[in-house]
Amino acid sequence: MGTQGKGQHLVLPGSPGSGKGAQARLLVQHYGLVHFATGDLLRKEVAAATGLGKATARYLARGDLVPNDLVLQLVRRRLTEADAGQGFVLDGFPRRLSQARALVNLLAALCQNLTAAIRLAVSDDVVVDRLAGRLVCLDCGAVYHAVYRPPNAGNVCPACRTVLHLAEEGKLKCEACSRPIGQREDDRPEVVRARLAEYHRDTGQMKDHCKYKGLLSEVDAIGNEGEVFERLQALLGERVPVP
Ligand code: AMP
Repeated sequence: MGTQGKGQHLVLPGSPGSGKGAQARLLVQHYGLVHFATGDLLRKEVAAATGLGKATARYLARGDLVPNDLVLQLVRRRLTEADAGQGFVLDGFPRRLSQARALVNLLAALCQNLTAAIRLAVSDDVVVDRLAGRLVCLDCGAVYHAVYRPPNAGNVCPACRTVLHLAEEGKLKCEACSRPIGQREDDRPEVVRARLAEYHRDTGQMKDHCKYKGLLSEVDAIGNEGEVFERLQALLGERVPVP
């Protein structure tokens, strides 16, 4: 495990499908950070039909942002769990200027600060293409891709690597927990376009704010996971602010 990024408090304000989840997992492996994604926390609440899950389900199904007070409850709860003290990478939050401010206040109340906001830069067309093939285990959250990271080699065409049963999603099983996997409702292309439009609308002011505070950096997120992670590591060693 390296030391450059240890104890960091990172946020990854990239668009949906920019690879934040994959990079966050690598940050966890290499630097011992805790990773939590507001999308995952929300989906768990919905699956468990908690009060918060019931209040937020319709926003998730449409790809709309959940109201701040609801998502902040989850972030506050997660940030005050003991393991978050070892450093964290927060993914999917903040998504708006108001959330960025709320996060800074929350961390200040915990006598902490934000170390860096790293944006994974990728075009909208690439995102739509990536998410159309994304498959997830709705039980444990493991992420696959029909072409780039297919589950269970037996389901994959040896010639072109496409998953053979994509039309019969129920047959695909998670490698980690053997539960069925499938496409997220909000990964359908028309919903992805709506999520991207919302992302651009909501993050504009936040990016300016983080840039102004000298916290925002950017890495090119086109390439395989390892290539993008090398860029992230270089950045954590020697952070290059966005001009
Ligand atoms: P994600 O997994 O990050 O793509 O998020 C999935 C969905 O969860 C989003 O489309 C929103 O409905 C909700 N969500 C995740 N993070 C936030 C956030 N920071 N603020 C509001 N809603 C969020």
